[in-house]
Amino acid sequence: MTQVVFTCDWTMMSNHNRREFLGFGTTTPAMLLPEGFYRRMFFPPMPTDASGHPVEAPYGMRKIEAALLDAGVDARIVHPDHLHRYLPGEARVLLLSGHDYLGLNPPSTTFAGAMRKDPLNRVNFMRLMRLPHLLDAHAQGMKIIAGGPSSWQLTGATRSKLPWVDAFVREIGGIDSVVEGEADVAIVDLVRKALAGEPLPSHVVLEPREAPRVDQIATIRYASVNGLTEIGRGCCRGCSFCSVTQRPTRWYPLEKIEQEIQVNVRAGLTSGLLHSDDVLFYGSPNIMPREEKLLPLMRMAKRHYRHVGWSHVAVASLMTKPNLLPKIRDILLTGEQTWWGVEIGVETGSPRLITSAMPGKVAPFKASQWPELVTQAAGLLNDNSVYPACTFIVGLPQETEEDVIRTLDLFDDLWDFRALLVPMFFVPLGHLTQKDWFRHDRVTERQKELFGKAITHGLRQSRMLLDMFFEGRPESTQAIYRALFSGFIDFVTLVAKEKGLIRPHPRSEPHAMESPLRHPDQIPAPTIQVR
Ligand code: SF4
Repeated sequence: MTQVVFTCDWTMMSNHNRREFLGFGTTTPAMLLPEGFYRRMFFPPMPTDASGHPVEAPYGMRKIEAALLDAGVDARIVHPDHLHRYLPGEARVLLLSGHDYLGLNPPSTTFAGAMRKDPLNRVNFMRLMRLPHLLDAHAQGMKIIAGGPSSWQLTGATRSKLPWVDAFVREIGGIDSVVEGEADVAIVDLVRKALAGEPLPSHVVLEPREAPRVDQIATIRYASVNGLTEIGRGCCRGCSFCSVTQRPTRWYPLEKIEQEIQVNVRAGLTSGLLHSDDVLFYGSPNIMPREEKLLPLMRMAKRHYRHVGWSHVAVASLMTKPNLLPKIRDILLTGEQTWWGVEIGVETGSPRLITSAMPGKVAPFKASQWPELVTQAAGLLNDNSVYPACTFIVGLPQETEEDVIRTLDLFDDLWDFRALLVPMFFVPLGHLTQKDWFRHDRVTERQKELFGKAITHGLRQSRMLLDMFFEGRPESTQAIYRALFSGFIDFVTLVAKEKGLIRPHPRSEPHAMESPLRHPDQIPAPTIQVR
């Protein structure tokens, strides 16, 4: 009998057509086309076993599930379509997780603001919480505990700022406990209290100093979506707008990572993502990549997965040891793999904004070197067949018009970079929680120009990237996906043209970016000594 059921909405319970990046599509509203079309493209349903357990589930949920199972608590992740089997009745506690419960994170606020419509993640989470059997179970005493990276969206602080959030939480009868922070250890006591019928704290804030040690973090028992495996937690760069940086940096030993990859391989997964806020920092006590740690990690991952990708990497880490990427390429790009993807937080093209909002992002270089570092890193990445999504922040409290102009200049320099440039609205997180959300009605003409350039660049490059995006699948399936996504790119192009968002550019045809790294001595030198 499963007493603790753990779930998330449909936009998260998906493998996003085996491309983690397509998960971004769940942060848009369903515009003009029916929601089912977006579901097919961005969040097709995850298959389940006979009991409604998904064959793969989001990695963070697998961690909490494993922590509870290790503690002897009967807890399992259940697909939202199968909740009716467990509630009302069998389940006494419902755990919720969400990357962006109510669509308040940067990508969702940007898309929703521009299109004036609720994003798909918000629509689906609200739909989940309004399921009649869930509401009945809650009314009959089942406890609801919400955690995950966006749990801040359900707290009293957010509810007091956004009355519609408050109204929604009231409508669903409240949430018994909202947990912020790394809950790997704390969740066990909380769930035991709920099972014992004891009162629950309505809001639990787990401070960075309470973050679990590596040996307190459970090893997943069942497969994670797209074979994603964490290699460590935390980031030491200290950007003012980021909550990750408040947590201590911890790296998992190679054996622990391999155990989790093996869980995924046993479930039939042949590709996977290594997850960290900067994969190149793996095993490093400072901001210098450690080759002797990284290369064994890459070799181990490639022994198990045919295709290995990364979640995030930092520009400064790439440029601190630019000779490392070709070595990693030689390990990863063997067999059928011909490229890999990663997300990079570039944030701005302005050295001034780097200094005022994120000085650690550029270390060990100088802020004045930032635009040059970014363009050099772009060449380095494309030369080594890495095609990233680069995110930018629009509307930081410290931002000026001059900063936006510098970012526009950087976009021009990156025009032939095979990547997606993704500007997103500022959201008050990290050290800036007291600041206000950036909203669409505050967008200036120059910021509009930035979005127009990003869309124009993205549409041009998407067509080129599409050819390789679905590699590794049978030819017939690749053709279907290419046709589907090519049609979607045509649709977005049409809408963008109608809205006057397409921008002209000096070069008429896109081509692969030539690396500016022609001579090793052109690489900017670090400006501070690091250990
Ligand atoms: S580098 Fe990225 S993860 Fe690290 S603090 Fe800055 S924004 Fe956060």
